[in-house]
Amino acid sequence: MNIGFIGIGLMGRRITGNLLRGGHNLTVFDARRAAADELLSQGATWAASPRAVAAASEVVFTALPRPRDVENVSLGASGILSGAAPDLAYFDLSTTDPDTIQRIATAARPRGVHVLDAPVSGGTIGAEQAQLTIMIGGNRDVCERYRTVLEVISNRIIYCGEQGTGAVCKIVNNLLNLGNYLLLAEALTLGRTAGVDTETLFEAISHSSGNSRSLQEFPDSLFVGNFEPGFRLDLGAKDVGLATEMGREYRVPMEVANLVEQRFQDALNRGWGGQSAVSVMRLQEERTKMDIRV
Ligand code: NAD
Repeated sequence: MNIGFIGIGLMGRRITGNLLRGGHNLTVFDARRAAADELLSQGATWAASPRAVAAASEVVFTALPRPRDVENVSLGASGILSGAAPDLAYFDLSTTDPDTIQRIATAARPRGVHVLDAPVSGGTIGAEQAQLTIMIGGNRDVCERYRTVLEVISNRIIYCGEQGTGAVCKIVNNLLNLGNYLLLAEALTLGRTAGVDTETLFEAISHSSGNSRSLQEFPDSLFVGNFEPGFRLDLGAKDVGLATEMGREYRVPMEVANLVEQRFQDALNRGWGGQSAVSVMRLQEERTKMDIRV
């Protein structure tokens, strides 16, 4: 199949690798040309703009940082819609807000272009191993039509409902994952201050009701002082912000989420935006003068 891909970053470069290995023709674009060098050497084709990507493709994916990037790439003067033939399917894998995807879908409808929000969970390891969970919002028939392509990058496709519902599920999920870091930081520093070492706390919690995916990330990150980003803290701050913004829009009381957002702001102000989102836990390490290492 002729597939277009825009946004060859931490996620995009791994997802596109799987699409190429799956035998698909891949046309790519990124704001940084160098981001595509490796892919081009493996057989992908460079396009000069999102418009050119769309013109060469039956289905287009984006994996871009922020809602405004998704909007520019899709609706801009040389954006996806300007080059799309009728019946093109566009899956946005980025974590964006439901309003943005609905605006894009509304603009795409008269052109016969299908827009689906398709945010992913599983991180760079899930992307590498083609084991992402994809949360889809949009036309179910279109989702089914491209199932075989989606299965090249994912081991779980969850159809969430109409446009925007995939984005809602992803924002809710990330609020839990990122908020959990802060509670875990307090819990682990408490346990250590009270005299139990990190390994023992980890083993006890891992086999008990406090266990979580967030905790299971730590042997390769926090516990060994590795803050190299798979998922960057500035993108985590963006996702918590998307959650609190939705809370205000729907008037849902969210005291804890607002606190989480403020802690992410503190971490951003320390200059940690380019590090892993787990770095937010270092704020608690500083306050307690204690490293949560093994
Ligand atoms: P990233 O910053 O590493 O990659 C984004 C890429 O998009 C970069 O190569 C950048 O040059 C490119 N880009 C930015 N603006 C552009 C534009 N206007 N036109 C063309 N290219 C542009 O980000 P990432 O970690 O790959 O994340 C991508 C999306 O996926 C984000 O929305 C993020 O929240 C989400 N996400 C990330 C992870 C993760 O573990 N990294 C997991 C799940 C979801």
